[in-house]
Amino acid sequence: MRCLMCGSLMDQGTFRDIFDGSDPLCQTCRQEWQRRKIRFCLDGVRAESSYVYNSAFSRCLIQYKELGDEALKDVFLHEVRSYLKWRYHGYTLCLLPSSAEKQEQRGFSHLAEMFACLKMPVIEPFVKISSRNQKKLGREERLQMKELIRLKEGIVLPQKVLLCDDTVTTGATLLGALSVLPQNVRKVRIYTVSANIRWL
Ligand SMILES: [Zn+2]
Repeated sequence: MRCLMCGSLMDQGTFRDIFDGSDPLCQTCRQEWQRRKIRFCLDGVRAESSYVYNSAFSRCLIQYKELGDEALKDVFLHEVRSYLKWRYHGYTLCLLPSSAEKQEQRGFSHLAEMFACLKMPVIEPFVKISSRNQKKLGREERLQMKELIRLKEGIVLPQKVLLCDDTVTTGATLLGALSVLPQNVRKVRIYTVSANIRWL
């Protein structure tokens, strides 16, 4: 098997493979990722990330979601999938939205494919109002620093939701999603695979 990022040939059947399934990245590429348990709060909601958003993570994310390299889908949660299944048992994953233009350009829902390996209930309840339309908004609304998000029509959210995204940079999208959660949602947590720690 070859590493999905650098293409180098990987040894298989190592203890690591047997214990945790084969990593689609070679050890050299994997070591460039900076794994760290990052915890923070956003608008009073507990949030967690697994990696520092560094250049290696960013390269892989761009290759996957902007250059359409769908094969990379399992790279992001490979090391943490068992932990996440245990930690957020009973939660429904609520994926944060991309703008309709972006989603159409990509032709696939990059978060849905990324989180599918957890085999947990997943919904995509949000719609992002396009940045073009956001520009038309008044100064007041823009100053709120929240990305404008609305719930899809007729969507019913479960009581325990885990808002999920690939990375957190400014928190604007997450704040937007938090602001439209309906009252019946009792428990909310946030998980982003990586976090920009300069912002935190
Ligand atoms: Zn590699």
